[in-house]
Amino acid sequence: MSTGPTPTTPPSTSAMPVTSNPNTDADAKATVASCPCNHLRYSLLSKPLIIHCCHCLSCQSETGSAFVLNALYLASSVVPLSPTTSPLLINTPSASGKGQVIARCPRCFVAVWSNYAGGGRATRFVRVGAVEKEVKSMDPGAWAPDVHIYVRSKVPWLAIPEGAEVYERFYDVEEVWGRERCVRRADAREKIKKAREEETTEAEGAGVQDARQ
Ligand SMILES: [Zn+2]
Ligand SMILES: [Zn+2]
Repeated sequence: MSTGPTPTTPPSTSAMPVTSNPNTDADAKATVASCPCNHLRYSLLSKPLIIHCCHCLSCQSETGSAFVLNALYLASSVVPLSPTTSPLLINTPSASGKGQVIARCPRCFVAVWSNYAGGGRATRFVRVGAVEKEVKSMDPGAWAPDVHIYVRSKVPWLAIPEGAEVYERFYDVEEVWGRERCVRRADAREKIKKAREEETTEAEGAGVQDARQ
């Protein structure tokens, strides 16, 4: 029996007025992330909370490359620009063993963002490669990784810059996000935690229902 990726039902999405989003950074330029065929497009309403360069074997396998660059946002800051187009949400294994849901374009099937189990539905790990080239070309250095993770499986020919923040596996979220001058991350952490608690409560409620069937 095949154990390949399993599509799940996309959640309903609706566009929200850009001006009402509390996560908008006043100084953030309008940033668009899209798949190569341009069918699946999102507006990114804030700066990334953190950019991960992940060297894990799962990311290498998914991308067909040596690593992936993921920019983490609150889900409320990643707004569909074509609300009638839903991504394919594909359950996929991850390095933690907890899995992830990868959102892919329904036409070209390229990944634009994903949810990892740890962050839950309140987050979006947007592929930095999906950020439009016009935006990246304005300030290429702005999309450099804040941390390198899972370097235990980094390819040997790749040299990480001196002074970069490097972790054998994943980092301690409370420690890294709780640092001084990381107020945005600390605020986001609270929102993500609250959303995760609500998801857990929902799952427990669903479990009770299942047990009664
Ligand atoms: Zn596409
Ligand atoms: Zn990875």
